Parts: sequence; structure tokens; C-alpha cells
Amino acid sequence: MHKSLNEKCAVVGIFGRKDASNLAFFALHSLQHRGQEAAGISSGDGKKLHTIKNRGLVSRVFTEQKLETLKGSMAIGHTRYSTAGDDSILDAQPIHANYDLGQISIVHNGNLTNAEQVRKELIDSGAIFQSSMDTENLIHLIAKSEKRRLKDRIVDAIKRIEGAYSLIFLSRSKMFAVRDRFGFRPMCLGRVGSGYVVASETCAFDLIGATYIRDVEPGEMLVFEKDREPQSFKIYEPTPKHCIFEYVYFARPDSEVFGANVYKYRKNMGRELSTAKPVEADMIVPVPDGGVPAAIGYSQQSGIPYEMAIMRNHYIGRTFIEPTQKVRDLKVKMKLSPIVELIKNKRLVVVDDSIVRGTTCRRIVRMLKDAGALEVHMRISSPPTTDPCFYGVDTPDRDKLIASHMSIEQMCEYIGADSLAFLSNEALMRSVKAEGDEYCTACFTGQYIV
Ligand code: AMP
Repeated sequence: MHKSLNEKCAVVGIFGRKDASNLAFFALHSLQHRGQEAAGISSGDGKKLHTIKNRGLVSRVFTEQKLETLKGSMAIGHTRYSTAGDDSILDAQPIHANYDLGQISIVHNGNLTNAEQVRKELIDSGAIFQSSMDTENLIHLIAKSEKRRLKDRIVDAIKRIEGAYSLIFLSRSKMFAVRDRFGFRPMCLGRVGSGYVVASETCAFDLIGATYIRDVEPGEMLVFEKDREPQSFKIYEPTPKHCIFEYVYFARPDSEVFGANVYKYRKNMGRELSTAKPVEADMIVPVPDGGVPAAIGYSQQSGIPYEMAIMRNHYIGRTFIEPTQKVRDLKVKMKLSPIVELIKNKRLVVVDDSIVRGTTCRRIVRMLKDAGALEVHMRISSPPTTDPCFYGVDTPDRDKLIASHMSIEQMCEYIGADSLAFLSNEALMRSVKAEGDEYCTACFTGQYIV
């Protein structure tokens, strides 16, 4: 995975199933694309919470024997992509603690924008932190709340935090799911046999045989208790500002997020791109895997044949070398390779979902030209990424975002393409059938919500 920009996590919660930790494991497996750095599960058996977490992929962290020790009919899980410098095991989730009401475990997808300030206030009043995670603030806020019931303490804590959060809490006997009022990150509710599941994306439901009920509403808290339907509480009025980058890149194409299918919308982006930025060419080529649906849309709209002329090696692990520019170049080379036979003497339209630093694009253009392509026209199925994200996407600083300091012409020259074009913000909104301003587009527009 690219080290420059990554979604910081997936969450899952299972309630009311004897095989809860097994189901959480499989759900996490489907959500692996949202974070490969660490994985963890906490389960609850009514008396005690059990937690296993470690660095690495879901399938490496858990074995059958380990899952057997995660007893109980409730479980929450997490996959994590950590930001630079803090990949210690202490920064893996679930976060677990003992406090005056007993035990608690928390998983979080998102990013708390006032975390530093709250952390400082907590430390000033005597709190001792174990990790560098913004999520740990919640443990302290819950422990310090003067309310008697956990539900009310969670509400107290939520009222102190700002930013993006899709959260799941596990106590000895209950599970709570909470989503911020903007619904930045996705989270949906499903039925799995006689139990319930909440997860970042519906692709997790498909694997465990769950059926989608609805999204957890922005600003909503769901409380899961034995022998009861989930209860819904409104913490905030919903004011949706869903992350548009979920549709552009993050979410799996087979998922329904924010109530719509990701693949369909990505294909619309390709269609729009073809209409607005046509090229005379012999072949449409996706950059795998991100560019595939948009390239299909581009091909169908333009009538130019689609070919998988770039192959992707799926078996690239993490390098333990510092992510310098040189290593990044090598990683692109290790990951993607051309089918020379297809490319030679052809005019290509190459479709990718986004340009961050410009490394991938530049390398691909060079690779295709070396393989004998006559022309390479880059088409990007999102607007230029000009601004960093503070709501759960770990973007590089603004000065590393190539589009923040180069015009499209300069970028085209830098990547060495014959032409370069992006999807406009308006066309992106049409692609996702936006009806108003229900999406956060800060990474493309610099218009931040909180
Ligand atoms: P860059 O090489 O820095 O311009 O990154 C752009 C490439 O990274 C494109 O091929 C995207 O598909 C891919 N990409 C975009 N966002 C992410 C992300 N969050 N994690 C990993 N790869 C990404």
C-alpha cells in the first residue's frame, strides 16, 4: 500500500451470536483494504472482555486457537493503518481499559480534530495516557464523567469530541455504535441470523451472510442489549457531509456506502470523464485496482476498447525501509507491470482514481512509453487533490500534494504524459447523484467542515 495517503481503519461489531469473534474475524477480513498495519478483536462473554490485537494482517494476527479464546456472544474488531512514527502495538485497537464501571473496549474509524486540546486538558487534570491515539481520549472522558450509566457517559464523552468518528464500544453486557453528526465515515447496520452486525462497509455483511438493514444515521447512537431490539438515540441532528473519497478510492466496489453502490458510482465517474475530456485513442487502460470501474465507464461511453494492459502484483508486503522517494519508485515498479504485446504502437488512455504525490502516475507513463506506447493520455476520475484531510484520511502535508503547487499543464509535464485531465467537482457530484451539499470535498476544494 501507498504510504502517503491512507484510510485509517475499519470497524465491526457483532452482537447476539455465539460465534461472535469468528464472525468479527471474517468481517475484518473483508475490510482489510481499509488498513493493513494492525488488527484486533475484543469479545465479551457477559463476565469479562477478552482482547487480542497485534501488528499485521487480519489473517496473521488471528489463528483458530486464538479466536477460540475470544469467548462470548459480542465482539468488536478493527483494522488499522497507522500514521508515520506510531506503529507500536499500543496504537493498535481495540483500546481496552478497566475503570470504575468495569471494563470497556473501543474501536474507532476517523480522526478527532480537537484531540490535542482535549488530551492536554486531561493530562493537566491527572490522566496518564498509554498510547498516542486520539481515541484514548474517549476512555478518559468516559471514566471521568459523573453520570451513573455507561450510555450517558458515552454521550458526555461524545459531546466533548469533534471531527470524524464511527465508533463501537463494548462493555460487559452491551454494545454501542455511534457516528458523528456529519457521517464522514461510513457505518451500517445489518442482521446476522438472530444477531446484529455493524460495520464500516456492507462487503463485510456479504461474507458473513448478514443482511443490510440501514446505515447508522449521522449523530445517532445505537444500543445493543440482550433480548432487545437495538435502541436508537439521537445525540445530534444529522448534517451529512459524507467523505467523497470513499466513493473515489477507499470503499470496496462491491460495498454499498452512504446508501449506494460504489462500483456504479465509480463507473459514472468514468463516463463523465469521457464526455468532458475525450481523446482519440486505441485503448482504455485502467491503473489496477483503483482505476478499473472508471476505466470501464470511460470505455463504454467512448466506445474505445478496454484492455487490462497493466498487471498488478498483489503480493507486495510492507518494506521496512524508510519510505523515501527512491523506495516509493521501486514499490510502484514492484507492483505494476505492462503487457508489452498489447501496448506497443498504441495510443492509450490510462485511467486512475487520483493523483496524490504524482509518483504512481509518473512511473506508469514512463513504463508504458518504455513498453512502446505511442501516446499516453492520463485521465483521473476525481478532481486534483489539493488539500490534506483532517477527517480520517492520512494525507501527506499540503506541500507534498503535487496539485497544491502545480497547474495541470505543469503536472502533465512532470508525469511526462501526452495529456492529463481530471474530473471536475461538478461532474463528480453528478456521478454520485448528489442532491445538495451532503458530501465533504475538502481534499479537492479546501472547504473544511470542522
Ligand atoms: P501518488 O503516487 O502519491 O500520486 O498516489 C496516487 C495513487 O495512489 C493512485 O494510483 C491511487 O489509486 C492510489 N491511492 C490514492 N489514495 C490512496 C490511499 N489512501 N492509499 C493507497 N493508495 C492510494
